[in-house]
Amino acid sequence: MIPSIEILATTGVAVYVHVPFCPTKCGYCDFNSYAMNGEIVDRTVQAMVREIRSSPLTGVPAKTIFFGGGTPTFLAEEQLLSVFQAVLDVHPPLPGAEITSEANPGTVDMPKFKSMRGAGFNRISLGAQSFLDSDLLRLGRIHKSGEIERAVGAAREAGFDNLNLDLMFGLPNQSTHAWKENLTRALALKPEHLSLYCLTIEQNTAFYKEHLRGQLVLPDDEVQVEMYDECISRTLEQGFEQYEISNFSKPGLACQHNICYWRGEAYAGYGPGAVGAVPVGEEFVRYTNLKHPDGYCEAVQKGANLRFESESLSPETLRVERIMLGLRMNNGINLKDLQIPDFAVAKLETRGWIERNDQHMSLSAQGRHFCSEVALELI
Ligand code: SF4
Repeated sequence: MIPSIEILATTGVAVYVHVPFCPTKCGYCDFNSYAMNGEIVDRTVQAMVREIRSSPLTGVPAKTIFFGGGTPTFLAEEQLLSVFQAVLDVHPPLPGAEITSEANPGTVDMPKFKSMRGAGFNRISLGAQSFLDSDLLRLGRIHKSGEIERAVGAAREAGFDNLNLDLMFGLPNQSTHAWKENLTRALALKPEHLSLYCLTIEQNTAFYKEHLRGQLVLPDDEVQVEMYDECISRTLEQGFEQYEISNFSKPGLACQHNICYWRGEAYAGYGPGAVGAVPVGEEFVRYTNLKHPDGYCEAVQKGANLRFESESLSPETLRVERIMLGLRMNNGINLKDLQIPDFAVAKLETRGWIERNDQHMSLSAQGRHFCSEVALELI
């Protein structure tokens, strides 16, 4: 069902804020991020505050808030908190709402974390990526491995008791042994959540060009599968639950914001390049904001259309997306709600790719390697 604004006023909406700045551009990054500094950053912050304060969803409470990017902690404390205050005013958080900021270990310290915690952030997601300095250098990250430990210590001291570490495997020249070492270092820091992703080479990145020139030596598929299996077994040993293909949490601490995406729920997006999916009149519209900070600021200033693109999502498109995204989660999908045909479920069960009960189906351990094939069969 497509939620109306009246329904969202009761259930709340997930709120995403995109901060499009980073100290440098990493070689593998295809996110909407710019290595910019100075006046444009300040102008963008002011434009973001203005966009948020004139939201058509003003007054709809936030069920989750997520500051991502880019690097939210690249902003000065006052800049970050002025955007955050606008969000709190426009979308008062529901009791117990998860409020996350991504952070780069090279752009944080205790005073900044303390101010963020004091303002109401209650979850930090640290882009650690690797504990090996040579990997970090190769990836184009600005931090050194020691700064990850320092940032975790500062976050804990500032009062954050819900902390995620992002790590990547399948890095250039990475061995399974090196990946195991990374997992050991990450687990020793006792995070509540781990996001463990395999590096993908995206077009329009420096890595893509190197890849075309044959200059990237990546672990082969079998090694990547070994690394992924290691993620599952090591996290399980340490009391984590895998609740999504790449995400592992201590019980009860799965990322509520990302779950909203994977369930195909409504989310409001603010900032340059932010994506949102919200009811507009009778329709459910997914939009992307203008991506470049200059164009975005100009549009906000002139009160012009902020959208880079937008599309109305039909109930059938939403159904297909919910199947594809829902399969990523260990809880899987509701067979009746998503009108899954019995014969398709039976076929996949025979292949051993799914597990099911009367109401739900989810990928089996074997099926996780065939997520796209399962989705195609179901839609
Ligand atoms: S820190 Fe993240 S968003 Fe920024 S350039 Fe690196 S990968 Fe991209």
